[in-house]
Amino acid sequence: MCCLTVNLPVIDSGVPLQAVPSGDPRRHLLDLSEDDLKQWLVDQGQPGFRAKQIIHWVFQRRVSDFQEMSDLPKTLRSQLDEAFRVLVTSPSAVVQSSDGTDKLLIGLPDGGEVECVLLRDGLRRSICVSSQVGCAMGCVFCASGLDGVDRNLTTGEILEQMLLLQARLGEDERLSHIVMMGMGEPLANLDRVLGALNIARSSDGLGISPRRITISTVGLPAAIDRLANNGTPYNLAVSLHAPNDQLRSELVPINKKIGIDKVLDAADRYFEKSGRRLTFEYVLLRGVNDSVDHGRQLAKLLRHRTVLLNVIPYNPVEGLPYSTPSRSSIADFRQILETGGVNVKFRQRKGDDIDAACGQLRRNRGTSPTGQSIV
Ligand code: SAH
Repeated sequence: MCCLTVNLPVIDSGVPLQAVPSGDPRRHLLDLSEDDLKQWLVDQGQPGFRAKQIIHWVFQRRVSDFQEMSDLPKTLRSQLDEAFRVLVTSPSAVVQSSDGTDKLLIGLPDGGEVECVLLRDGLRRSICVSSQVGCAMGCVFCASGLDGVDRNLTTGEILEQMLLLQARLGEDERLSHIVMMGMGEPLANLDRVLGALNIARSSDGLGISPRRITISTVGLPAAIDRLANNGTPYNLAVSLHAPNDQLRSELVPINKKIGIDKVLDAADRYFEKSGRRLTFEYVLLRGVNDSVDHGRQLAKLLRHRTVLLNVIPYNPVEGLPYSTPSRSSIADFRQILETGGVNVKFRQRKGDDIDAACGQLRRNRGTSPTGQSIV
């Protein structure tokens, strides 16, 4: 993903929450919905309301040891211990920047790794979470999909990223926003993503309003419709990156099978159903999609829509032939869009020095950008 501005990384060996070693036959508690957990409790002869208590302990009180859940009967605590483990992942690298951005590389039970990020901006505490190990979309400028996709993350693995990042907050900080903008295509793993977000928005879970949760997609129309029909008004961000099919199909290869019109139509339907203003993401690549003509075409596509256009200067990825446009061409591009009547925001490029762009930390695993070990 593409957040963050920072200075030299600080290496942190602290593991905020204990993970159970792999090979453990117990189920991952976080893979269960509240209803699944209720059913399990009823099957054990326990009242279903204890599901809320357990979720509250894990997400609000940040307790991962059942024995510490003091308002549960002792026998239930032991039953839970035998059936479930709360945490199955562990951070394999932590990189911190002086501006308060923390990036974690998280080890999964099968040896896979994903990245997630905590961003601090004023009072805002946003977390950026991965949905897959790798990515199948093949966007040519992005580090996440360079080796394709390994697998979908489970609901529990998505939630654990949130817990591990939340655990990094101080006493006076509160998690405020969630963006599904880490590795992977969230709409290609929609059921698991929605399962995780159900807990994230529940008051016993993380208690984050759907208005503060954004799902970012390359633009898969059928899945956008499913998301709209799901009924919870999450914010939708669509990664556009080009104003015409020829260029978009070069940059975002999945576009060959879909086409911009269908992506925009699905986004319009999402807006009609959810009432949430759409966001379009546009990564600005020097000499590729940043010309005056591209700006004009983009303004024409978007000016009659209720959208925010987020323009992100490219965060360079080692080995890829793309770079960030100059300040003056960024300013020109901005002017064309503003005079073209588009509601546009230009994001600062952040986190170059902590490999903040999508999938970069995982690729550079073993050495930090300054050559220090981060494992
Ligand atoms: N698959 C989803 C979400 C993951 S990427 C999607 O395509 O939206 C989140 C955003 O970061 C996308 O807009 C993606 O194109 C962008 N991105 C990826 N690599 C980047 C980089 N090196 N610099 C800037 N933005 C990048």
